[in-house]
Amino acid sequence: MIDYSVSDGVCVLRLDSPPLNMITFPLLDDLRHAIGRAGEETGVRGIIITGGCDHFSAGADVGLFRDITRAEEAVKTSRVFQEAFQNVEDSARPVVAAVAGRMMGSALELAMACHYRVCARGTRFSMPEVTLGINPGAGGTQRLPRLIGAGAAVKMLLTGETIGADQALALGLVDAVCDGEELLARARTLLESDPEPRRTGRLTEKVHDAAANDAAFEKAEELMAGVRPEIIAPRKILDAVRTGLEASFQAGLAKERTGFAECMDTLAAQNRIYLFFATRETSRIHDLADVPPADIAKVAVIGMGSMGTGIAHALIIAGVPVVVLDENVAALGRGVQRIRTSIEKRVGQGKLARERAEGMLGLLSPAAEWRQIADAGLVIEAVFEDVAVKRTVIGRVEATCAADTIIASNTSTISLDALAEGMQRPERLVGMHFFNPAHRMPLVEIIRRDATPAAVLATALAFARRMRKTPVVVRNREGFLVNRMFIPYLKEAFRLLEEGAQVPAIDAAMVEFGFPMGPLALIDMAGLDVLVLTDGVLSRAFPRHGPLSQVAVRLVDGGYLGQKTGSGVYRYEKGDRTPHPSDVTAQIIADVQREIGRTPREIDAGEVTRRLVLRMVGEALHVMEEGIAQRESDLDAATVLGMGFPDFRGGVLKYARDLGLERVRADLEKLAAQCGERFSVRV
Ligand code: NAD
Repeated sequence: MIDYSVSDGVCVLRLDSPPLNMITFPLLDDLRHAIGRAGEETGVRGIIITGGCDHFSAGADVGLFRDITRAEEAVKTSRVFQEAFQNVEDSARPVVAAVAGRMMGSALELAMACHYRVCARGTRFSMPEVTLGINPGAGGTQRLPRLIGAGAAVKMLLTGETIGADQALALGLVDAVCDGEELLARARTLLESDPEPRRTGRLTEKVHDAAANDAAFEKAEELMAGVRPEIIAPRKILDAVRTGLEASFQAGLAKERTGFAECMDTLAAQNRIYLFFATRETSRIHDLADVPPADIAKVAVIGMGSMGTGIAHALIIAGVPVVVLDENVAALGRGVQRIRTSIEKRVGQGKLARERAEGMLGLLSPAAEWRQIADAGLVIEAVFEDVAVKRTVIGRVEATCAADTIIASNTSTISLDALAEGMQRPERLVGMHFFNPAHRMPLVEIIRRDATPAAVLATALAFARRMRKTPVVVRNREGFLVNRMFIPYLKEAFRLLEEGAQVPAIDAAMVEFGFPMGPLALIDMAGLDVLVLTDGVLSRAFPRHGPLSQVAVRLVDGGYLGQKTGSGVYRYEKGDRTPHPSDVTAQIIADVQREIGRTPREIDAGEVTRRLVLRMVGEALHVMEEGIAQRESDLDAATVLGMGFPDFRGGVLKYARDLGLERVRADLEKLAAQCGERFSVRV
């Protein structure tokens, strides 16, 4: 697990636990022995800990955290890591970490316990534990401030942000940056200068100014302002850093251990860890294990509206050459310009290097003629949501491209079977359903027809991953996975309006539940016409869902489609997206109530939340029953990544399981009796 070698007075400990050099208990054990042996071996002047010229370690095996069920186990896990790294720091012989790749969490904590650090150009450093809802447990809260100061450390620890090699050098996190091939030589040179062991735990230079530390903690409070009470990690991190600086390094380590155990005991952390694995599991498909994906060298995107533009943008971000085509020359130009503007903006903000931006833009070629897409291995169509238009485009692609070119449709509502009709080679059709904006949203639903061959599916999956997306495989049924649950949720919000709930109260209830925005504000963003269109397809397929409220229908009939028309459920001022109450909506609601003879009643936040969330849960149970998703964890990942379901609740079904599935089922039947069979989960 650790390769031990000595040459010219330097002992090199090379982590050798492929493929990722994950830090596990056995590896820590090996490390302890190796450090001990190097400390005793005569003639050893110093020690280098490394992984290779382009990789060090992926950090702690998150599986270790998943297996923790009791507080004592959490404390013990943290202690084992802390002691192993302390053992490195205590080495009487100087230790240099020679690192590369992505230095995250415990990998960085190990490097920080070494006396000096040399990194390869391109190395990236982060402490992402906070994103899992836990605090670092291997000394990170103590050593990072001592190396880079409280302000910079707290920022890294609380945001999980990544910094590059140059910034790490400027901050003092590393002592030297060099080419990957020179890592070992550079570390040797450092040792040849006969440095004393420089123990991070004893450094004071960056943290001795109490006023500066206090200022850092005050600033940290700002970063924590929006943190939900369910998520305790940021507070625990801050406690550990503060204790370490105000009391002692040892006291700080103790706080880190108990903080880690307290975080691990929260449902929020357990759910985020669950999602960590769920999102990795989605691309594992039972019947695909041995099917190699085709190599896609070039992609074409047809239709440069909002989706095609986002997809093309995502492709060049991932380094894939893409030809874009639209029958409307103006739309093509607008799409290309939108991508260009967005990339230029990031360059202007210093978030993207000019060179990389040029490289990305160089991958994008607008096509004036169909023959320019002839050599694409994958064609993604994102033209109008119209069967005839899509069929024509698919026919054109078949006539232009090679026989094995895969054709992916981004349709949200049309059955792939309908699109496959009339194709020469229908087996090469697959669904790749992106979410808007496609260059930012991480989810792609891969729609599999019963007739989709394994090789086509494997290629679509592998390609989505190459685009750094999380693919979820879904059976070809109306609404696929996310819309199947999300549309009923949005519809329920309109039902609540009809019954007397207030617009802002509905949105506030869901924000309180943890969604980034409420359903009515969201539908104004997406467009009420999209809801009407999508629901048309879903309610034909699932009559149990019932009709869409007349409130939504009349808003659309009146041209109140949302932000794009300046008014939807809410009203908007020109050039401003702040929602204001709309008199039109209030009037429509009152009219509808009068016409159907409904007396509005007071509806409290509890009922709003219960109905909206359980409507999704009920639909999710049907979805699993119908085999639309492969596994519950796929569905959970999709609901978090595709619809903004709060991650600390683990996803729609994980939430239901945490409430108790039997109780939830009983609740759903009660709601079915009160509100309508749409809630029923009986099959
Ligand atoms: P859009 O109307 O913004 O863009 C469609 C583009 O296709 C237009 O620029 C149009 O000129 C072009 N086009 C139409 N016919 C063409 C043809 N024959 N040849 C070449 N180009 C043609 O639509 P959009 O919102 O980007 O949606 C595109 C697809 O993505 C639809 O199938 C839609 O259901 C799906 N989708 C949309 C969203 C969303 O939120 N908008 C989300 C997921 C999927």
